[in-house]
Amino acid sequence: MNICIIGAGYVGLTTAAVLAELGHEVHCIDHDERKIRLLNNGKIPFYEPGLEELITKNCNYLTFSGRWDYIKRAAVIIICVGTPPRPDGSADLRYIEAVLDRLAATIESYKTIVTKSTVPPGTNEWMRAELARKGVKPHLFRIVSNPEFLREGSAVYDMLHPDKIVVGLEPDDDRSLAVVQSMYAGIDAPYVTTSLTGAELIKYAANAFLAAKISFINEMARICDAFAADINDVARGIGFDPRIGPHFLQAGLGYGGSCFPKDVKALEHAARSRHVEPHLLRAVQTVNATQLDVCFNKLNKELAPLGGKKIAVLGIAFKPNTDDTRFSPAEALIRRLSEAGCMVAAYDPKATLPAPLANVRQAQSVHEAIQGADGLVIATDWKEFCTLDWAEVKAIMNGTLVFDGRNCLDRRAVEESGLRYMGVGRG
Ligand code: NAD
Repeated sequence: MNICIIGAGYVGLTTAAVLAELGHEVHCIDHDERKIRLLNNGKIPFYEPGLEELITKNCNYLTFSGRWDYIKRAAVIIICVGTPPRPDGSADLRYIEAVLDRLAATIESYKTIVTKSTVPPGTNEWMRAELARKGVKPHLFRIVSNPEFLREGSAVYDMLHPDKIVVGLEPDDDRSLAVVQSMYAGIDAPYVTTSLTGAELIKYAANAFLAAKISFINEMARICDAFAADINDVARGIGFDPRIGPHFLQAGLGYGGSCFPKDVKALEHAARSRHVEPHLLRAVQTVNATQLDVCFNKLNKELAPLGGKKIAVLGIAFKPNTDDTRFSPAEALIRRLSEAGCMVAAYDPKATLPAPLANVRQAQSVHEAIQGADGLVIATDWKEFCTLDWAEVKAIMNGTLVFDGRNCLDRRAVEESGLRYMGVGRG
């Protein structure tokens, strides 16, 4: 199949590499010339495990450019552009709109247009109407909603081994379903077929539910702290119940990244637009918005006065195995510590600080970050932070406090080295 992907970001590039691996001829269009230059020089513009290798392996089937005439040759067009939040919480669809303008000016023969970007309910219907309004003959295209569920950090694996493939279709559109099925031939996953809007809402419901799990466990962690109980025991205890499950029950600094915060907000906005009051979505966000305060206040209480203290922060990315710092709670905590007058040394194996901050420097190693520190914060649960030699850490630090902002450390190992352990909701 000849496939054109629009947007060479985390989703677009992973989709391109995987579809090329499945035997398709794929062209990726992005308006960011720097990205295209990098890609044409064999480099990928961000860190995602296994992606560079997969792109290199399939380089004969993969091309990159900013040229829209490639659309003419493609049978399938996959839209993977960003849908960032507007200040009012709604999804900003300007990149989708720009793509529709380009498509309307280019489409001359039949295309299956697949939306992978996360878009609010009703958007795919609106896209169909917009293309028709811009002059594309209705018999020349079909729209398919095929939301993406990959996780940054394991994107390649997730796309090759999805737990389901969601396909939202226009009424009676068997032709597009067959196109999508042959596009994904080789991937073994159950299909969930629904309406265009049904597919959009599956994506939002999934992210909202996961965000709710995180806020739930963070609220439970606050209650555990108040009763001197350990949230990790509570999470383990409830996780055995198959109705609850063991995943996404790790208390910490709160959820972040480019998806959960924006998608929960966008769903809230969409609900309100139809006069549905989203009580639970509001509460999920309130807990998340205050979780950093809870953690910051714990640190402040232990290390007061914070001003002038040297704090080592391990982790800048919003989660491990990625260099993505969009809405990263780790970065937000570093900012709070900077504002409180701390001298911060931050280290991350892949991510860099997105902007300079007063009294914050980026260290080149864990060792450099913790040298002489009064306190140590684990802000992202990279594996290498969970297995530090705590006796060595104690010897290098000035103070003794270790704040496990991700509840990922072996508490006993930390305490046995003579350090003081403080987690989130760990009594
Ligand atoms: P991203 O910011 O990494 O990539 C988007 C790319 O689109 C950028 O390279 C940008 O230059 C390009 N672009 C924007 N407008 C364009 C235009 N008019 N023409 C050509 N290129 C254009 O975004 P992402 O993280 O890959 O997310 C893309 C979409 O997928 C979003 O809607 C997001 O919510 C959704 N999603 C993301 C993830 C994730 O983990 N990142 C997972 C599932 C779904």
